[in-house]
Amino acid sequence: MTENLGPVVPTADAIGKLHPAAAVRLDPDGLLGGWQQRNIDATLPHCVTQLDEYGNLDNLRRVTGDADGEFRGFWFADTDVHKTLEAAFWSGTASAFADETAALLEKAQDADGYLDSYYQDPVNRAKQWGELHFSHEMYTAGHLIQAAVAAARSAPDTPAAQQVVAVARRFADLLVLRYASSQEVDGHPEVETALAELYRVTGHRPYLDLAARFVENRGHGVLGEGRFGPAYYQDHEPLRSAAEVTGHVVRQVYLLAGAVDVAVETGDQELLDATIRLWDSALASRTYITGGQGSRHRDEAYGDAYELPPDRAYAETCAAIGNFQLAWRLLLATGDVKYADEMERVLHNGIAGSTAAGGTAFFYSNPLQLRTGHDGSHEDAPSQRLTWYSCACCPPNLARLMASLHAYVATGGPSGLQLHLYGSGTVEHGEHAVQVETRYPWDEQVTVTVASTSAEPWTLALRVPAWCDGARLRVNGTPARVEPRDGYLRLERIWHLGDEVQLILPMPSRLVAAHPRVDASRGAAALVRGPLVYCLEQADMPAGTVLEDVELSASSPLAVAFHTTGVAPVTLRVPARLRSSHEPQPLYRDLPAAPHGPSGPAATVTAIPYFLWANRASGAMRIWIPLAAQET
Ligand SMILES: [Zn+2]
Repeated sequence: MTENLGPVVPTADAIGKLHPAAAVRLDPDGLLGGWQQRNIDATLPHCVTQLDEYGNLDNLRRVTGDADGEFRGFWFADTDVHKTLEAAFWSGTASAFADETAALLEKAQDADGYLDSYYQDPVNRAKQWGELHFSHEMYTAGHLIQAAVAAARSAPDTPAAQQVVAVARRFADLLVLRYASSQEVDGHPEVETALAELYRVTGHRPYLDLAARFVENRGHGVLGEGRFGPAYYQDHEPLRSAAEVTGHVVRQVYLLAGAVDVAVETGDQELLDATIRLWDSALASRTYITGGQGSRHRDEAYGDAYELPPDRAYAETCAAIGNFQLAWRLLLATGDVKYADEMERVLHNGIAGSTAAGGTAFFYSNPLQLRTGHDGSHEDAPSQRLTWYSCACCPPNLARLMASLHAYVATGGPSGLQLHLYGSGTVEHGEHAVQVETRYPWDEQVTVTVASTSAEPWTLALRVPAWCDGARLRVNGTPARVEPRDGYLRLERIWHLGDEVQLILPMPSRLVAAHPRVDASRGAAALVRGPLVYCLEQADMPAGTVLEDVELSASSPLAVAFHTTGVAPVTLRVPARLRSSHEPQPLYRDLPAAPHGPSGPAATVTAIPYFLWANRASGAMRIWIPLAAQET
């Protein structure tokens, strides 16, 4: 297996507990590997096509004189090109698109290293670097740099990769020249993590120093009030002293990711502790059960604590991706299993749900409920995925995440291997290698077969998700008495080629309630099995049933149904009451009158994994199901 490192490879000098495994491959017949293959087959080619169709590539060709017409799209439209290029490099499918785009970027770059097709437009040139609160110039530079990092790690010997790395370095050098002694920052974080990663690739310290400076510059009101106030772009308080996440979610999680990169590379434990404190604050009261974050559409922002309306969830796809990438950085830095747990949750729900089964349509915001008779407004609650967006940040972000997904499943070091996310494939680090076979999360068994020989003992660590009770192991068919420690089952021994470990992660279906302060979900329960959150969708309801009239009979057990065809391999059979829709009910009533009459007849309805919703006829959906009146 060839080395194929992904995003986030801390240097040998960095502080931290875990290191990415050197080589990981996901099998396309598993769920994770299937997503990765779909990305190669469908999402990535779709993104490339859309970049032409929506003018993103022409915007750059205008700079080189190879296209005319107006600039199209948002002023940061170049980032969609950069993210797609990053995805192409991670996926190993770098080809005509990568070659042509690398050449285009090189040709479009100014002599001083500047590259941003909106601000290279003669109409906008005079505004370069003059409106950083708004311009996204460094955000754009950051995504260019991340494409270069992917190029350098995945295909370093190809001309296209070398071209992209050279272009990104020239832009990064320009940033160093301009901002190494500046108090300024970009309104949209992103360049921090990119510069830290470029430092990791090149060893050039000024990139890391600039990333650290940008982290420190933020929080002193340098960006002004803007449209939504300084907290919108986390400029209201220095990150080191901030107590809670705030503002635009994607900006917050990207900033935190950059801060973690800076903290581990500079050995800054105080900064790392601050990022952990902020991450904890998000998870304590501002994260949906899907792992999505962001309750407010107006400014794409976190809401107040416990403000988590399912039907008006913003939960932008990019925020979920950023949360996943941040959790991975914190997992590497601390070794704390809670970050791997969160990666699993947001990946299997908030992120997976954003992409249609076919891989070419996407949600931008990800509601947890869609009402019957929804007015079709896409802004407040999208009822179906779209093939592209005028602000198309999410689809290429999905492409680059899925293209690099293999890099996030395992870590390795001299002491052995640690498996954090379960999908069929192979993991290799140094002398140690294993093969993983599983139908997880549909099935609770994960089989790990040792694929290396070593005379020395080493440790195989297997994550036990926080939701799992009674995890057990068999080694070569014999039960092994091991208790989870810090969230992992650890087996240390001299492993032989072909040794087989069977991990059983019991995953009964469960009912989950929200914190009582989450008013929007009070009196309701969510259905969960393993890492998957389930939902009710109109397509599965009995004829004539209005989804909002379905109540959960929580006193009866849920049943699990396995399928070889249909929308999902595993569905839940949910005991329910179908409240009558025929008798009109007043909107309000006096207490203590009976609550809108007794619940209606008993029925059993089907729940499907949330991530598969909206793949059939458009219709109502909900995750949080009201408990039948007598059972609350
Ligand atoms: Zn987005």
